[in-house]
Amino acid sequence: MVLDRLRRGATGRDPKKIPDGLWEKCPSCQKTVFKRLVEERLDTCPECNHHFKMTAPRRIASLIDDGTWQEWDANMTSADPLGFVDGKSYPERIAQQQAKTGLKDAVLTGRGKLSGLDIGLGVMDFSFNGGSMGSVVGEKLTRQFERCLEARIPAVVISASGGARMQEGVISLMQMAKTSAALARMREGRVPFISVLTNPTMAGVMASYASLGDVIIAEPKAMIGFTGARVIQETIKQELPEGFQTSEFVLKHGQVDLIAARQDLKSELARILNYLKPPKV
Ligand SMILES: [Zn+2]
Repeated sequence: MVLDRLRRGATGRDPKKIPDGLWEKCPSCQKTVFKRLVEERLDTCPECNHHFKMTAPRRIASLIDDGTWQEWDANMTSADPLGFVDGKSYPERIAQQQAKTGLKDAVLTGRGKLSGLDIGLGVMDFSFNGGSMGSVVGEKLTRQFERCLEARIPAVVISASGGARMQEGVISLMQMAKTSAALARMREGRVPFISVLTNPTMAGVMASYASLGDVIIAEPKAMIGFTGARVIQETIKQELPEGFQTSEFVLKHGQVDLIAARQDLKSELARILNYLKPPKV
């Protein structure tokens, strides 16, 4: 009862909409959990270990050694090549997303140390327009890959995205080819790339750099795929197998190499990066 009242707060509204920000409802086990505990556990549920979406700054703090992060291309923002309007203009939408998240676009990139190892890191943020990939995401990641190749340090990208950004039309689709080409040059130069898939990693992002890792890691129970299940089901007119498009399903079918819980991600990355140290040239 007390909990219920606390959850309702002063407004008496539906407890599912927790007003004071102290409590959070876990979408997986449906339990109401103390938000601070969730944060202490790197945004995972203390009851069932559900992995909540994580912001890019928190992800960087969870992986990069203190005081070693240097951000790249921090002020890059999107143009409006198509003059796109869907309810509101694209520049208005971008401004709104920037105000909401404190980010300039849906990815942060930079260089830092992970357990003492130099890496280039890109982290997508789903809270910025669904982590959609437009020209800024594509360009920042491409520059990340080019800098990693130049400096001969491994690249790591943490993906979280619904796919390409429709407001940039074909320019967003071009980013798939551009990032893939940059990764091909990294591969020729024998500099490793590790791709980490988090919930969700879909569509144009999964169909380009996210699936091109030398090693591909997924967080538990993430949604991973190209087209949504409903569209596939309607197209092929067949029932889809249980667990379709989850980390566990794609692991079984060879699309990812391992599943790592968020608490173990830093140590797993360090272990793999130590195996994959790029050869000196
Ligand atoms: Zn839970």
